[in-house]
Amino acid sequence: MSPRGWALVALAGLAVALVVAAALLIPWNRPPAPRADQLAALGDLPADQVAHSREFRAALRPGGYASLVVGLLIALALGLTPLGSRLVELAGRPFGGHWVAQAVLGGLAVVLVADLVTLPFSAWRQSVLTRYGLSTNGWAGWLVDLLKSYAVSAVIGAVALLGFYAVIRLAPRWWWAFGAAGAAGLVVLLSFVLPVLVEPVFNRFTPMEQGPLRTELMAMAARDGVPVRDVLVADASRRTRAVNAYVSGIGPTRRVVVYDTLLREAPPAEVTAVVAHELGHARDRDVTVGTLTGALGAAAAVVALYLIGSWAPLLRLAGVDSVAEPRAFPLLVALVTVVGLVAAPVQALISRRVEARADAHALALTDDPSAFESMQRRLATINLADPDPPRWEYLYSATHPSTVERMAAARAYAREAGR
Ligand SMILES: [Zn+2]
Repeated sequence: MSPRGWALVALAGLAVALVVAAALLIPWNRPPAPRADQLAALGDLPADQVAHSREFRAALRPGGYASLVVGLLIALALGLTPLGSRLVELAGRPFGGHWVAQAVLGGLAVVLVADLVTLPFSAWRQSVLTRYGLSTNGWAGWLVDLLKSYAVSAVIGAVALLGFYAVIRLAPRWWWAFGAAGAAGLVVLLSFVLPVLVEPVFNRFTPMEQGPLRTELMAMAARDGVPVRDVLVADASRRTRAVNAYVSGIGPTRRVVVYDTLLREAPPAEVTAVVAHELGHARDRDVTVGTLTGALGAAAAVVALYLIGSWAPLLRLAGVDSVAEPRAFPLLVALVTVVGLVAAPVQALISRRVEARADAHALALTDDPSAFESMQRRLATINLADPDPPRWEYLYSATHPSTVERMAAARAYAREAGR
């Protein structure tokens, strides 16, 4: 069988593995709380506060969607016309068109152009966040964050580009197989090292200070059977007033992080509810499962790009002879961008199911639905979240259940517990 035949077999195998993993590992049978309960919860929120949050979300919307559309258009313009391949050539020219220069500098140039074109929309977003008092870092802080994120992307991007095109040169017929394995390995590696190498670039993390709250949280983690070495506090207040918490890393790099803003704004019972939710993620190994499905998806993407990328009409549009040359990188970016936009609602749906499971875990672990509900109200108030967002937006991009869904889930729990 030819490399192409094997690639088809590999892609089918990866697709089956992804479907089986999704079917077994995603908590699909977790329907949202009844709509009547959600509407009752919405009615209990102060009307002026809901209106204010909706005004804020409406102010963000034009820039957000314009950025998506312009990002897509620039990716298509670079990938489906010879413009992108010329940009790669141009970046490699000072180095005599050497493949390393084309692969690394050309690849980064393509990404940078796409970033710069959508930069005005990021600035717009920052101006809205500032106007509504959510951002605290000012324009200088915003610019520093932006440059840091460019630098981090450039380092990771350069390694990935160099590795990818080196593999293509070493194994011209079977590069897709090694590339798929490499992409999967990179996803796992990144998930492992991001908390220790990248997150500290943007925030300082300090162990939570000793006291009754820390003792309570560590005891809860032990009771839950999720050994946690420490709860870390991030200095999120340097750029935002928003409150949040998260869990990241795998194995030895796994950590539960709470924003310093949360500790400042929320009473201990609500912080406990937030951490109980994060323990739910740790207990169900959501980061590990997400990393493994991400790795399978990345491997499938490389094989699919190899198969689709050898389609002659696409190569003609991009002005290249083969998908394997660095000049075809913009074509790969265009394909990945389109797939990303199409896959977004599926990823959002999976994320909402996983988040709902962590909520259920928090309710069961703390057995304190009223603290859980007031925590959700506080989160929505401070973060200016629309408690019941437009349906289309919710379906396309909501990574968490809505505030009214989460409040209704707490009420359903209280009802079942007979309170
Ligand atoms: Zn969560």
